[in-house]
Amino acid sequence: MTSAQLRASFLEFFERRGHTVVPSAPLVPANDPTLLFTNAGMVPFKEVFLGREQRGYSRAATSQRCVRAGGKHNDLENVGYTARHHTFFEMLGNFSFGDYFKREAIEYAWTFLTEVIGLPAERLWATVYEDDDEAARIWLEEIGIDPARFRRIGAHDNFWSMGDTGPCGPCSEIFYDHGPEVPGGPPGSEDQDGDRYIEVWNLVFMQYDRDAEGNLHPLPSPCVDTGMGLERLAAVIEGVHSNFETDLFVPLIDAAGEIAGVSDRGNASLKVIADHIRACAFLLADGVLPATDGRGYVLRRIIRRAVRHGYQLGIEEPFFYRLVDPLERVMGEAHPELAERRELVEKILHQEERSFRETLEHGLALLDDHLAQASGEVIDGDVVFKLYDTYGFPVDLTADIARERGLAVDHDGFERRMAEQRERARAASRFGGPRQEVVDAGESRFTGHETLEDTGEVTALYRDG
Ligand code: ATP
Ligand code: MG
Ligand code: MG
Ligand code: MG
Repeated sequence: MTSAQLRASFLEFFERRGHTVVPSAPLVPANDPTLLFTNAGMVPFKEVFLGREQRGYSRAATSQRCVRAGGKHNDLENVGYTARHHTFFEMLGNFSFGDYFKREAIEYAWTFLTEVIGLPAERLWATVYEDDDEAARIWLEEIGIDPARFRRIGAHDNFWSMGDTGPCGPCSEIFYDHGPEVPGGPPGSEDQDGDRYIEVWNLVFMQYDRDAEGNLHPLPSPCVDTGMGLERLAAVIEGVHSNFETDLFVPLIDAAGEIAGVSDRGNASLKVIADHIRACAFLLADGVLPATDGRGYVLRRIIRRAVRHGYQLGIEEPFFYRLVDPLERVMGEAHPELAERRELVEKILHQEERSFRETLEHGLALLDDHLAQASGEVIDGDVVFKLYDTYGFPVDLTADIARERGLAVDHDGFERRMAEQRERARAASRFGGPRQEVVDAGESRFTGHETLEDTGEVTALYRDG
C-alpha cells in the first residue's frame, strides 16, 4: 500500500461510516488570530466544536495539512533529530460533532488499524488519560487490549489542547511498536528518547472549552477529534522505521541528493531539506509570503535553514525551488493548491534563496572565525546579534548550526543587543533622525527584524497557545 492509497482508504473507511469527507483547509486558519498555523485536523472545525457554527453534517473525515513550526505545537527543532517529526505533515482525522463519543471513536480506530491496514494487535499500545475510567474500560473490556500494552498517563501527554484557550479534553493515544531493534521505552516510561514506540493516532474526547483564565467550561455536546499522522502510518505500512524512508520523502531526498551529489539517503541535511520544502511550498501556496514578522517570518526562517543545509552540502546555486517539481509529483493530486500556485511558489523560493546566499557565506565565515578564537560552549550574544543584524541569520538558524557543533547560543546576550538596538531606533526617530526601516531580505543589512519566539513577540502577534 502506498501513502496515497493509505490516505484514500482512511477517508473511504470513514465515509462508509457516515462521515462527510471534507477537503483540507489552508495552513492559515480562517479568522483565527489566536493561532499561527493550522496545527491539527480539528482547527478548521473549531467553531463547530464550540457550538457556534453548524455544518450540514455531524461526522467528518479529512486529511488536513498541518504546520508545527511555532507556537504551542512547535516541532522545528525536532526535524532531523527524530524519525517522526516534521514541520509540515498531513493529519488524517475523523470528527464527531455531538454525534458519537468514546466507544465508537476507539472501535473505529482499532478496526481501521487491525482490520483495514492489518496491523498485528501485539504491535499496538494504547494510553488513556489517568482519570478516564470510561475510556480505560472500553479498551480493556470491549476491545480486549492486553493490559500489558495499556497505560494510564497524566495531562502532559493525555489531555489535548489546541492552544491556551479553546476546545480541549482527555485523549487516548495509540502507539506502534517498531520492535526491539530500535531504542526507546514504551509510552509513559522514563525513556522517552528513542523512537521505538511511535505515537500514530490520538483520539481526543473534546469535552471542554478553556477560557483565557484557564477555566474549563463543558462544551454544548461532547465531540470527538482524532488525528493520525499520515507519514507515521506510511512508515508502518511500508515496513520502514523512519518517516523519511517512505514514499512521501524518498523522492524529495533523492532529488535534493542528486543536486548535491550526495547519495546517502540518511544524510541529515537532506532530510531537513526534504522536510522544509514541504512546509515552505505549502505555506506559500496557502498565501504566506516571507516577511520580517509574524507568519511570514516563520516561513523565511524555514527557507533560510533549508538554504543553509544546501550550502553545507556544497550546493553552489539556488536549488531549493527546484524541489517544488518532485513535491508536486508526490503531493499534487491530494493537494491541488500546490499546482495552482506553483509558478509563484518557485519564484519566491528562488528569490529568497538568491538574496540570502549573498550574505550566508560571509556570515558563516564570521562565525567560523569567532569559533576558532573563542573557547567555551556558548556562541557569544554579540556574534549571534551580528549574524542576525548584518547577515540575516535568524537566531534559530544560528542555534541550528551551534547544535550541530555541540554548542549553544547566548540568548540573553542576544536579547540585550536587540533591546539596545530598539532603544537606539526609538531615540533616532525621536530626534527626527533617519528611522531604521525594515529592509527587504534582498539587502545586506537586516535591521528592524522582529523575531518571533526569540523576543516572545509571537505571543503578542498570534497567540498560538
Ligand atoms: P508526539 O508526541 O510524537 O510529538 P503529539 O502528541 O504532539 O505527537 P498530536 O498533537 O497528538 O501529536 O497529533 C496527532 C497525531 O499527529 C500524532 O499522533 C502524530 O501521528 C501526528 N503528528 C503530530 N506531530 C507531528 C509532526 N511534527 N510530524 C508528523 N506527524 C505528527
Ligand atoms: Mg508533539
Ligand atoms: Mg504525544
Ligand atoms: Mg498526541
